[in-house]
Amino acid sequence: MRYGEFDTASLMYITNRPDLVFERGEGAWLYDHNGKRYLDFIQGWAVNCLGHCPAEITDALVKQAKTLLNPSPAFYNGPMVELAGLLTANSVFDRVFFANTGAEANEGAIKLARKWGKLHRNGAYEIITFDHSFHGRTLATMSASGKAGWDVMYAPQVPGFPKADLNDIASVEALITDKTVAVMLEPVQGEGGVIPASPEFMQALRKLTRERGILLIVDEVQAGMGRTGTLFAYQQSGIEPDIMTLGKGIGGGVPLAALLATESVACFEPGEQGGTYNGNPLMAAVGVAVLRKLLSEGFMESVRARGEYLKQRLLELSEKHGLKGERGCGLLRALILDDDRGPAIVKAALEMDPQGLLLNAPRPNLLRFMPALNVSEGEIDQMIEALDVLLKK
Ligand SMILES: *Cc1c(COP(=O)(O)O)cnc(C)c1O
Repeated sequence: MRYGEFDTASLMYITNRPDLVFERGEGAWLYDHNGKRYLDFIQGWAVNCLGHCPAEITDALVKQAKTLLNPSPAFYNGPMVELAGLLTANSVFDRVFFANTGAEANEGAIKLARKWGKLHRNGAYEIITFDHSFHGRTLATMSASGKAGWDVMYAPQVPGFPKADLNDIASVEALITDKTVAVMLEPVQGEGGVIPASPEFMQALRKLTRERGILLIVDEVQAGMGRTGTLFAYQQSGIEPDIMTLGKGIGGGVPLAALLATESVACFEPGEQGGTYNGNPLMAAVGVAVLRKLLSEGFMESVRARGEYLKQRLLELSEKHGLKGERGCGLLRALILDDDRGPAIVKAALEMDPQGLLLNAPRPNLLRFMPALNVSEGEIDQMIEALDVLLKK
């Protein structure tokens, strides 16, 4: 497609993008090059947790951009220290390593577990992961993921990621050998179709991993940072994992991710982990602004209330159209359809006139909702009304 004097074909063809260019965003709304507006229930893939261009983030960016961009990862900077302090004060973890993407944070978690295995488990390196899981797009995180077809796409895989079944503790137990160093899971499988690990399963996993002397790693890149109704999803099952990764929401739209570990597990030695942009103050300042907002009086209560409201409205819609219900936690939810029309609904929602709606179907038989955490009830109502029309067709 032509765009001014340029052409979209200059970009590598890595996904089917619609013929429109987004130029501006504000709160729950996005505007394309024709001036058409879209109600956004994707929010950059659960990334813009405070909506498009919130004042908290733009102010933090402008202020930090005028102060210090990047002194180098070999030096401390203020926002990096502040963000790490806020994260450890509000979680069970003691040490933080900042990264730029969720996949990079997960790579760090894999390396940290392998290092720990070298020190404490005779070089054990296998990390049990789960069918349908998603951990990122680097070679190791693709190998850790349980996505169909990913095992052969860039063969050979990185070895050491046997797959168990979510919510089936016996399937995990059966895979533990003297080579096992950890179990890694998403507390709510996001890309897999919004499938929560049950609190009982999380508790059983914690018990099993403790008994066997192996680590428990939670990938909260999608589920963390308030998305599921608590600051971190692991808090809902009352367990204490050894390692956690964060991404997406922590940057509110800018590239920021984090690897957190408890004191006894944080065993990297100088020179074993790093990265040019890791902990840069520009992104860390945004992380501070985002986290302070999430921690502010009443914010998480309102996320839970909006999550409950979205749930009720989706259930009504399901009942009305004879669908198969809904599932999820907080503001990460899915409506289960009666057939595989998910992609067709997503396309029709985008093309609605005069106002489009942005939805996502991680699997053809369901629609996923990941609005900004400060989405209003009125915006939820507008989305439901649009979806009601689409479901009638
Ligand atoms: C999105 C996602 C990742 C990958 O994050 P990137 O920033 O795209 O590298 C990893 N794990 C989970 C659970 C995710 O949802």
